[in-house]
Amino acid sequence: MSCEHCQALCVKYVIRSPEQLRKAIRIAINALSEGMLSEIKSTRDWNQYSFHECAEKMVWGDIVDYHFVCNYCRTQFVLGAETYHGSGGYWSPENEKPSEIID
Ligand SMILES: [Zn+2]
Repeated sequence: MSCEHCQALCVKYVIRSPEQLRKAIRIAINALSEGMLSEIKSTRDWNQYSFHECAEKMVWGDIVDYHFVCNYCRTQFVLGAETYHGSGGYWSPENEKPSEIID
């Protein structure tokens, strides 16, 4: 469940191009800097770059797997992509991963 703060982020956003990935990164870093979201560090970290490094330099590795949580309602979000396969990725609330992009 989302709250008034993260409602705008509670969308499934399918990423099919580097430009769309950059846009999703910008949205996430804005929410982080506003104090709305916090990054969750996963124990299984596939990322080659920290999210801040990723957002600052707009660089990413073959696997993009960043997790965030709303500081108000604890809704979790994931920014994921497999850039190596070029299969794209998604921004989504954690519990609502869009099935169409999982192959
Ligand atoms: Zn929220």
